[in-house]
Amino acid sequence: MIVQTFKTHCEDCGEELVSRIGDMTGSNEIIVDFMDDMEFECNCGTTTVIHIEKYTS
Ligand SMILES: [Zn+2]
Repeated sequence: MIVQTFKTHCEDCGEELVSRIGDMTGSNEIIVDFMDDMEFECNCGTTTVIHIEKYTS
């Protein structure tokens, strides 16, 4: 199993936030089209949400 590590920073206090998700397929591929919103909970009580939006430019 591959563990994907996602990092961002808290929108409120700037603390580095880490989320690890186990990838059972082991292919190390992420199809971003199908990614849900990612929630990063910080010790300060703020939840930072990453939302992926697809558009053309
Ligand atoms: Zn915070």
